[in-house]
Amino acid sequence: MKTKYIFFTGGVVSSVGKGVTAAALGLLLKKRGFKVAVQKLDPYINVDPGTMSPYQHGEVYVLDDGAETDLDLGHYERFIDVSLNRVCNVTTGQVYAEVISKERRGDYLGGTIQVIPHITNEIKRRIGLVAKTTGAEIVLVEIGGTVGDIESLPFLEALRQMRSDVGRENSVYIHVTWLPFIGATGELKTKPTQHSVAELRSIGISPDIIVARSDYPVDEDLREKIALFCDVDRRAVIPMITEPILYKVPLTLEEFEVGDYLMERLGLEPRQKPDWSRWKRLVTEVEREKPVINVALVGKYVELHDAYMSVREALKHAALALGLEVNISWVHSVELEKGRGWDVIEKADGVLVPGGFGSRGIEGKIQAIQYAYKNRVPYLGLCLGMQLLVIAFGRHALQTDDVNSTEFDRTTKHPVIDLMPDQRAIADMGGTMRLGLYPCVIQPGTLAARAYGEKLIQERHRHRFEFNNSYREVLEKAGMRFSGLSPDGQLVEIVELADHPFMVGTQFHPEFLSRPNRPHPLFVAFLDAVREHAGIEKQQVEAIETPSVPEELAAELQR
Ligand code: GLN
Repeated sequence: MKTKYIFFTGGVVSSVGKGVTAAALGLLLKKRGFKVAVQKLDPYINVDPGTMSPYQHGEVYVLDDGAETDLDLGHYERFIDVSLNRVCNVTTGQVYAEVISKERRGDYLGGTIQVIPHITNEIKRRIGLVAKTTGAEIVLVEIGGTVGDIESLPFLEALRQMRSDVGRENSVYIHVTWLPFIGATGELKTKPTQHSVAELRSIGISPDIIVARSDYPVDEDLREKIALFCDVDRRAVIPMITEPILYKVPLTLEEFEVGDYLMERLGLEPRQKPDWSRWKRLVTEVEREKPVINVALVGKYVELHDAYMSVREALKHAALALGLEVNISWVHSVELEKGRGWDVIEKADGVLVPGGFGSRGIEGKIQAIQYAYKNRVPYLGLCLGMQLLVIAFGRHALQTDDVNSTEFDRTTKHPVIDLMPDQRAIADMGGTMRLGLYPCVIQPGTLAARAYGEKLIQERHRHRFEFNNSYREVLEKAGMRFSGLSPDGQLVEIVELADHPFMVGTQFHPEFLSRPNRPHPLFVAFLDAVREHAGIEKQQVEAIETPSVPEELAAELQR
C-alpha cells in the first residue's frame, strides 16, 4: 500500500484544537486497523522548543529518542498510544539549518538556494521520513499556526506540491476553523471560515474536509452553508462543539462518520470494525461522579496550565484508574516564599513538584516539600521535584541549610545535586541535556518496586544535573532510599524516604509515558497514597485497566 497522507491546516484563529483533532482522527484510523503516525510542522525559527520559555510555548514534550518537541506530540501519543520519533516534529529552524549546512558543504554545486525548491524539498523530505522511520501506513501532518502567517508559507507550498507528488487518492486536506458567536444577534458566523478557505485556495490548496470548531451547537443549515461557500461535501463539514472532556472528541468525530469518509477518500477498506467499548467506558468513568482528592501542584509557571500538560493528564489517568476525581490546585512557589498560598497546601491531600529550571521560586518548593515531610502528606517529585526532595532531606540530615544544587548555588558547601563531569564542558544550551529513554533498575523492597512490579524499567529524561554520589552514604544512613539506579549503579534515578508513607522523587519524567488506558504506575501509587491520606476508601473500579502485578513477582520484589 502506498503511504496515505492527511494534512491539517488551521484557519481564523490559533488554539482551536487542531492538535487534538489530528490526534483523535489518528485514533479513528488506528481503530480501523491501520498503522498511523502524526507529524507536527512548526513554522518558528527555533531548532526545537527545548530552549523556549514554557510561558511562550507551554510544555516541552520529550520522546523516547530524546527529541524535545511541541506539546501536541503528547496529544498524539496519548490519544493514539503510539511512540513517535524525532522526525515527527519539524521546525523552520531545522529545515534551514539542514539546507544551509548542505550549501556550505557545496552539495548544491553552485546553484542559487531558494525557498522553492530547496526549502520546500527539504520539508517534503522530512514529511517522507515519517513513514520510512515509523512504518506508518497513514501519516497525519499538522501545520502549526494559522493560514496567512508569513512563516507558514513554505510549509503550505510543500503540502500543495505533495498532492501531485503522492496523488490525489493518497492525500486529504483538512482545514480546522473557528465559528465566532455574535452575542448581540445570537448567531454563529461562517464568514471568517469562508475567508480563510479563500486564503488557502489562493495558495493552491482546496480543503477536502472542514472541521468547524464552535462554542455553540451548529445546525444543519449552517453546515449546508459552509459546504456551499467552501465547496466541500456537506458530509465533509464537521461541527466540533467545545468539549470539556477531551476524550469525547474521537467519539464525536466517529458520530459524524469522518473515519468512513476518510476511508472513501483514500480508497481504503477498513481492516476491522472500530471497537470503541473501552474508550466509551473511559468517557463514562470521566463523567461519573467520584470521590475527590486534592493535589497541590507547586510550580512557577502555574498561570499557564499548558506548561504542565502531561503532568495534569497523568494525574487524571491515574485518578480514573482508582475511581477518583483529582482536583489540582495550582500553587505558585514564589508566593509560598512570601508566606502566601499556604492554605492551599494545607487543604491538599498530596503535594507534587514538577520539573523546572533556574532559581526562581526554588526555596518555596523546598518549603512545600518540608511541609509534606513533617505532616506526612504524600509527595511526588518529578525531575527538579526529585532534586529538591534530595536538597530538603539533605538540609535535614546534614543539619545545615547550606545544601543545594549547583544549578542554584555554585558555591554551596554541600552540592547534593551537581553537574556530571561530561556536562561540565558543554556550552550550548540546546539539545545537550540527558534526554530520552534510559533504563533503570528498581531496588527490591521499595515503594517504587511495589508500584512498578517490574525490575527493569525505561523512562524518559530531560535534565542536566544529577544526584551527587558523594552523598549517597550519609543520606542513606539518614533514611533516604535509592530505589531506582542506572544499570551500572552510577546514576540515582529514584529516591524515596523510609520513614514516610509516600515521598518519592524521580530523576526522569514519568508523566510522558502515561496513557488514558494505561496510567503510569508511579502516579497510581502516589494517588493511592493521597486517597489514603484523605481518608477515602479504596474504590471498586472495573472500567479501565490498572497496572496489576502478578502475586509471585510482587512477593519477590518485597523480599
Ligand atoms: N533543572 C534541573 C536539571 O537541569 C531539572 C530539570 C527538569 O526538571 N526537567 O537537571
